[in-house]
Amino acid sequence: MNHKTIDAILDRAVLGCDLSPSEGVQLLTQTEPEAIASILATADKLRQQQAGETVTYIINRNINFTNICEQHCSFCAFRRDDGDAGAYWLDWAQILEKTQDAVQRGATEICMQGGLNPQAQINGKSLSYYLKLVETIKQEFPQIHLHAFSPQEVQFIARVDGLSYADVIQALGDAGVGSMPGTAAEVLDDQVRRVLCPEKINTATWLEIVSTAHKLGLPTTSTMLSGHIETPVQQIEHLEKLRSLQQTAINQGYPARITEFILLPFVGQEAPKSLRRRVGRDQPVLADALLLGAVARIYLGNWISNHQPSWVKLGLAGATAALQSGCNDIGGTLMEEHITTMAGAIGGTCMDVNTLENAIAAIGRPFQQRDTLYGRV
Ligand code: SF4
Repeated sequence: MNHKTIDAILDRAVLGCDLSPSEGVQLLTQTEPEAIASILATADKLRQQQAGETVTYIINRNINFTNICEQHCSFCAFRRDDGDAGAYWLDWAQILEKTQDAVQRGATEICMQGGLNPQAQINGKSLSYYLKLVETIKQEFPQIHLHAFSPQEVQFIARVDGLSYADVIQALGDAGVGSMPGTAAEVLDDQVRRVLCPEKINTATWLEIVSTAHKLGLPTTSTMLSGHIETPVQQIEHLEKLRSLQQTAINQGYPARITEFILLPFVGQEAPKSLRRRVGRDQPVLADALLLGAVARIYLGNWISNHQPSWVKLGLAGATAALQSGCNDIGGTLMEEHITTMAGAIGGTCMDVNTLENAIAAIGRPFQQRDTLYGRV
């Protein structure tokens, strides 16, 4: 691929055109330093046009209420069987205590997700357990935004209780869930999913659940777990699916849509051996994550304008580099992070606001606290 072709693709992107999948793959497969530098610079320019100079962050707390899970994803170092060393399941008092602590520390959001624990039921109903999780938090802290339960958890509840996805989403929304994390997407390719997460929902179901959330007025985020066995073509197909999901939400006038895209590079250090061996390294390759993040900005930015790197996976220095090649948001303080930390991530489990603000100021950009839906705080 000569530079002329890459420059022509980038020029089209700067003019506001949506790239085709084959143009996306052409960008992602560049190896020449000069071409890569142009892609990163174009992503930075588009970030400026689409999201502005200000880097946003959120004060939030993760609550992973249990790591007992019936599934066995090949990248997951978090899950346990009931009774295993390290298995845990928070009770209501612990959940309230963590929320109280988060509120005292200025959090506007609780991000709550957990393992798929078949015992998590009340009166034989999975949905009743999840509703009690929501009510436990919302009754005491009605002001807190609850960003909770992945599409996989929605399908788990629906399957266990024999409900439709719409019934589950509606009930969770009515109880006080404010938005849905677009996790469990991994890579939206069934061939990859058969290796990575064979028991998880397939691509079509993930898309169906997220689109149902949009129809019912529940905003979602979107994610990609990158840097394991997937190919550049599969990465672009994933972005293409997210873009068209968002186009559907917008063109159909659904009351909610995707608020942001978060790239989650694979951390293999403590992952189950077979995938770790196959991938052959423990920590993400920063250069790969930056190029993919830049291409994601170029590919999605006209439709999804907020892009966030993961400081948990890349470390703060890596995340800050991503702010200079397409990202406009540094994410949350988290206060505790188990899932990736148990996988051996180097980024840590908590960031205080000053550390985030200083990292943003160090690259000469203004910062602003935001809420979950990107309103100013
Ligand atoms: S990634 Fe989630 S669903 Fe998969 S094994 Fe881990 S906790 Fe369970």
